[in-house]
Amino acid sequence: MSTLTETLPFAIHPVVRSRRPDIDFTGLAFGLHPTDHLFQAEYQSGAWMGARLEPFGALTLSPFTLALHYGQSVFEGLKAFRRADGQVTIFRPDLHHQRLNRSLARLEMPPVPWALFRDALRHLVRLDHHWIPEAPDGALYLRPLVFASEARIGIKAADTYSLLVMAAPGREIYQHPLRMKVETDFIRAAPGGTGAAKCAGNYAGALHATQRARAEGFDQVLWTDAIEHEYIEESGTMNVMFVLGDTLVTPPLTDTILAGVTRDSLLTLARAADWPVEERSIGWPELEKALRAGQRVEAFGVGTAAVVAPIASISIQGREYATYTGADARMHELRFQLEMIRAGLAPDPYGWNDVVTP
Ligand SMILES: *Cc1c(COP(=O)(O)O)cnc(C)c1O
Repeated sequence: MSTLTETLPFAIHPVVRSRRPDIDFTGLAFGLHPTDHLFQAEYQSGAWMGARLEPFGALTLSPFTLALHYGQSVFEGLKAFRRADGQVTIFRPDLHHQRLNRSLARLEMPPVPWALFRDALRHLVRLDHHWIPEAPDGALYLRPLVFASEARIGIKAADTYSLLVMAAPGREIYQHPLRMKVETDFIRAAPGGTGAAKCAGNYAGALHATQRARAEGFDQVLWTDAIEHEYIEESGTMNVMFVLGDTLVTPPLTDTILAGVTRDSLLTLARAADWPVEERSIGWPELEKALRAGQRVEAFGVGTAAVVAPIASISIQGREYATYTGADARMHELRFQLEMIRAGLAPDPYGWNDVVTP
């Protein structure tokens, strides 16, 4: 047992031999290759304990495990990078931690202390940083997960939970600009529901509408609000932004929209650059009107995975409209600014990069 942290004793059992050399990093498919290690801790009798890093492997679970039946399962997604100067950094772990605890509270699950969250990430990244692809677009995706581990059939808030942190190498594979469909039949979230929580059930509930859109040739749906089926909310695991005229427009954060860290970062940068920014409701009739009038409309998804995912077209009530993705689109500039900070090539005035290796 080594005490590499002030807060908790961590047991670290490193692998004897890394699997890293066995993986072909040229055609790296995202999310298929776990790194060598897995972080685990358990919550029982009101405290987190048993923090350890072990070789990645299968879990043993009772078929009675509450999370499998009733869905108390919450996750996060963030990234670690290796910068040109050789330092390894994690992007905005503090904000991801705050969101994790908000999600946990909404699902009646216990909070994870900051020190435990930070140390789990840092120790895992220190052990497995050689998994970060060498390419400039390479990153290590970090996935913290908390689930109800108590074994019992019968709905209740569990008394015991597991915290896992796993990691997978990835590259920002070029994504073709997306064809989006404004979804007006199904909804992702309703006021008073769990839409603002990164909880497992939200994604299960989204699959059917998304599959239907895919069968129609679209990449994703743009969710609309539960009441009017009019106001744009978000898409998949991305928030959405528009550039209308000179103004950056994005839906305001409500309890039906997930508070994206990328969204927050891009809004911060836009405001710092004195761009007009509006966090306001935007309905599909307004979008359609602008598109029909031939105005230039930029639309893009924003999230940790793609940072900025350009949208090439939006289908509204069965009519498809082209949106602007040209080289001078402002979305590219926003993305560039964020990536320069992330890569250590521009100053980091907000302290977004958490340096892991000294
Ligand atoms: C994770 C997620 C986002 C984006 O959040 P980031 O912190 O920017 O990655 C947006 N919407 C949903 C539904 C998500 O799950």
